[in-house]
Amino acid sequence: MSDGASEGPSGDAVALRADGIEQAFGDVEVLSGVDLTVERGEVAAVVGPNGSGKSTLLRVLAGLDGAAGGDVAVPSGAGGARRVGFLPQQPAFREGFTARDTLEFYASLLPGVGSNAVAATLGRVGLADVGDRAVGSLSGGMTRLLGLGQAVLGDPAVLLLDEPGSGLDPAMVERLFAVVGDLAAEGTGVVVASHELPAVEAHADTVYVLDDGGFVASGAPATLLDETDTASLSEAF
Ligand code: ADP
Ligand code: MG
Repeated sequence: MSDGASEGPSGDAVALRADGIEQAFGDVEVLSGVDLTVERGEVAAVVGPNGSGKSTLLRVLAGLDGAAGGDVAVPSGAGGARRVGFLPQQPAFREGFTARDTLEFYASLLPGVGSNAVAATLGRVGLADVGDRAVGSLSGGMTRLLGLGQAVLGDPAVLLLDEPGSGLDPAMVERLFAVVGDLAAEGTGVVVASHELPAVEAHADTVYVLDDGGFVASGAPATLLDETDTASLSEAF
């Protein structure tokens, strides 16, 4: 990651800019030149068939995997927040920890993040009432909200979410995306890989369709998802 210019095409601050991202596993080229610019406050959704490389892209954007090519820049914003928050597809928690303990432990690993951030984060993700419950007793949806809390604990400029709604009922998917929308409204730039097309349509500002190593379409969800054959897209997941 490196600093870059902070003015986007529309003059808003850029939260994340990826240029020409390439990734390969052995001889298999998964990403062959992906460009993505996300502004602060923007929710960008990446959709695409199973195996198209959504998780691969997010791991590169998160800095967890080095890419075979290209650059990722997270410009430092006016507020100085530079961290990237990441919610993996299958977050792992200690079941015996309470929700609060989980965030306290994570906060202890993040420089400059104190206990006051934990209470604020539990509230932000709607888990204030269950902070003292063991993680193992939480529903799948609440556990995912806890993962979201863990990802935003450091007040990141960029939030990356890999299939946050998978396995959840539609009401919980809606609740989770509503929290994501709130975070974006506070200025976070969001990249979410998701196949929950109704939620994507309702909450994403921009949708990118990943296939064959690159984005094959992008645009506002209302136009893009209507024009795309979403039935075949859904079947592919
Ligand atoms: P998606 O998240 O869109 O379902 P992935 O990014 O998980 O797709 O996978 C894209 C392709 O990369 C798949 O063919 C997958 O098998 C392959 N792949 C992902 N991670 C690895 C890895 N660590 N080693 C080898 N192949 C991988
Ligand atoms: Mg995936």
